[in-house]
Amino acid sequence: MAQRRSHGLVTAVISLSLTLALSACTGDRDDDAAARSASPTAAAPSPSPSASPSASPTVKRSPIPEKMNLQRTTGIGGVALTFDDGPSAWTPKVLDALKARGVKATFCVIGSQAAAHPDLIRRIVAEGHTLCNHSWNHEFKLGTWSTAKVRANLQRTNDAIHAAVPGVPIKYFRHPGGNWTITATRVARSMGMSPLHWAVDPQDWRRPGAGTIANRVIRGTRSSSVVLMHDGGGDRGQTLAALPRIITTLRAKYRLVRLPDAL
Ligand SMILES: [Zn+2]
Repeated sequence: MAQRRSHGLVTAVISLSLTLALSACTGDRDDDAAARSASPTAAAPSPSPSASPSASPTVKRSPIPEKMNLQRTTGIGGVALTFDDGPSAWTPKVLDALKARGVKATFCVIGSQAAAHPDLIRRIVAEGHTLCNHSWNHEFKLGTWSTAKVRANLQRTNDAIHAAVPGVPIKYFRHPGGNWTITATRVARSMGMSPLHWAVDPQDWRRPGAGTIANRVIRGTRSSSVVLMHDGGGDRGQTLAALPRIITTLRAKYRLVRLPDAL
């Protein structure tokens, strides 16, 4: 019993830490997005300074109501690796790592990044991965906008993707920061996209070390988990370094799948 209470406390502390971390991430990501727009042809992204939690106090993360019915598992009995916030200069390296091991994954891309790197969108598709809409410019508060504005943002993103790969299905939408609202899920579904959340989040964007990223993914993954990682939004060297062990270890137990274009 005492153990359970202690576990509950730890969970509460972890939840609070994640809340603060996500707030910190907001400022960090916005800076990175601005930097990327300014120099889309820049080489490898350089590490950005970490923002303190107080840097962006406006973004809060509330518990996600169950009625939103978010997708957290693959639904097809395999584990899905998903990569967010690209395409970026790190995307080719992630694609190389996946290709070398014959793994198909899912890429949740930012519309403005897709417009800047249509070649990478084409490569993602040519190599058999699934596409997911991750908003036009990683707007954390997108879900609080009007239905019309949310729809326009998602449509603009799909249009940018389709400018590179006409007609390719985009059956998933992932809200920036996981800040889901009923409006966001409704609009996504009305556009034929499943609201894709995740079951495993190693917090790789905080750069805790490649070993920690791999351990978190390996320990947290179950038979049909959707795993969240990043191929954009900053220096993804640690994520890249974690991938070989993640893939080797998960594969010993599970099938690694791309999310299907039709459920
Ligand atoms: Zn993101």
